[in-house]
Amino acid sequence: MAETFDLVVLGAGPAGYTAAIRAAQLGMRVACVDSGVGPEGKPSLGGTCLNVGCIPSKALLESSEHFHRTSVDLKEHGISIGDVRMDVPAMIERKNKIVRGLASGVGTLFAKNKVVPFAGSGRLLAGMRVEVTPLAGGPVETVTAKNILIATGSLPREIAAVPADGNLVVDSSGALDFSTTPEKLGVIGAGVIGLELGSVWNRLGSKVVLLEAMDTFLPGADEQIAEAALKEMTRQGLDIRLGARVLSAKTGKGKEGKEGKEDKVEVEYEDASGKHGIEFSKLVVAIGRKPNTHGIDVNEVGLLLDERGNIHVDDFCRTNLPNIYAVGDVVRGPMLAHKASEEGVMVVERLAGEASRVNYDAIPWVIYTAPEIAWVGKTERQLRASAREYKVGVFPLSANGRARAMGQTIGLTKVLADRHSDRVLGIHIMAPMASEMIAEAVLAIEFGSSAEDLQRTVHAHPSLSETVHEAALAADGRMLNFHG
Ligand code: FAD
Repeated sequence: MAETFDLVVLGAGPAGYTAAIRAAQLGMRVACVDSGVGPEGKPSLGGTCLNVGCIPSKALLESSEHFHRTSVDLKEHGISIGDVRMDVPAMIERKNKIVRGLASGVGTLFAKNKVVPFAGSGRLLAGMRVEVTPLAGGPVETVTAKNILIATGSLPREIAAVPADGNLVVDSSGALDFSTTPEKLGVIGAGVIGLELGSVWNRLGSKVVLLEAMDTFLPGADEQIAEAALKEMTRQGLDIRLGARVLSAKTGKGKEGKEGKEDKVEVEYEDASGKHGIEFSKLVVAIGRKPNTHGIDVNEVGLLLDERGNIHVDDFCRTNLPNIYAVGDVVRGPMLAHKASEEGVMVVERLAGEASRVNYDAIPWVIYTAPEIAWVGKTERQLRASAREYKVGVFPLSANGRARAMGQTIGLTKVLADRHSDRVLGIHIMAPMASEMIAEAVLAIEFGSSAEDLQRTVHAHPSLSETVHEAALAADGRMLNFHG
């Protein structure tokens, strides 16, 4: 007879594994089915985030930043060293080691919390059953569930005219595994993933060109920050071409090509001035991600999808079917790891009778470029489009003592607050470690703080977080350390 669980989770990315652990803490008997494989092709827990997303990209950003700092910035600090070289395979192996360590950590957490893992692909069957096809082969198993949580994540979006070959034309996962620095790297898409991966290889010496179909750079970010970021990324050497729609990509052999081996990609794109051809040594397609419902067989049980192919859910991640929930990248909302895991926790806490919720207005966004870009809440564009009257406070990094001492003065912090109630509506930061600084801003939004609350909060000196304090003061025209 099929084994019965209180909860069967499909997917062990941040949404699924966090939910499984929390459910087990709450006393449920939990199984987690995951079909993920790591960089070495073996079963690996942690989903996109751990294996080919957040963590490996940040590992490479860190390594490439060290290389860049060492080769370029150290001189300013009076430090001189010899020839700085980059060992790309060593960098990739460091990244893989971090991934292996964290993925096996999820396995340990499962064991400690008595979550039963299944390394395989899960398919929904009628009668609250899940069929598991093991990754390692062998007989198919069926488990029965009182509740099912779908957390099958997302997959890279493809362009039909630009077929990936896994070598010269790759998706974001491929761009985390180059064995050498490409001489000329094309990136289709100047969104978060394109910018982060483009930054990695740019710092290591690639000539990077980003082809972005939209005319607007980072449309989700505040326009003042997006404008400053475009200027800074361009200064760093990223060639960002907006309004550039890629028409086709063809692999072929360049002058240097070894016998029979293709070593170049010819891309044709169109912008306002007409059609253009450009040649790259590697091409990354980073145009976003699509919900992954492949394999779970939504039709078998009548699970409703929305017009974008996401599993349709309400605010509490309930699907159209009783006792079946869906969370993370496979449902509506931002494709972010922390949003995914909070949704997973909410679902299982509600199953246990708790009044858990996710505050979708307080989800931070981060782009891990240098400087980093982070924000929470409304942008100025959104406020302009609403009837709300608001006030703005901006403080430049160049006037912050810590930023000066660090030699990293490019960026700004911006606070948007309601003109009448003083409530903080949005905070936007472009600064080193903005990913850390944004936590204060998220707390301000979560607690419904006023700009005055931020003004009266004592911030350590010297610190980058003082720019949040000063930007809040600026919203009332009373900055202390800048006169602009
Ligand atoms: P996933 O992490 O995609 O996990 C889904 C899991 O389900 C996978 O293991 C998959 O194999 C498994 N699965 C799929 N189908 C089945 C099935 N039928 N049966 C069993 N298992 C199945 N987000 C951030 O917040 N910060 C970042 O810095 C960041 N950087 C990123 C960088 C890159 C290059 C990429 C690609 C993404 C990045 N993201 C980042 C996005 C983040 O990775 C996702 O939002 C997050 O992983 C979503 O979590 P999830 O659990 O919903 O899905």
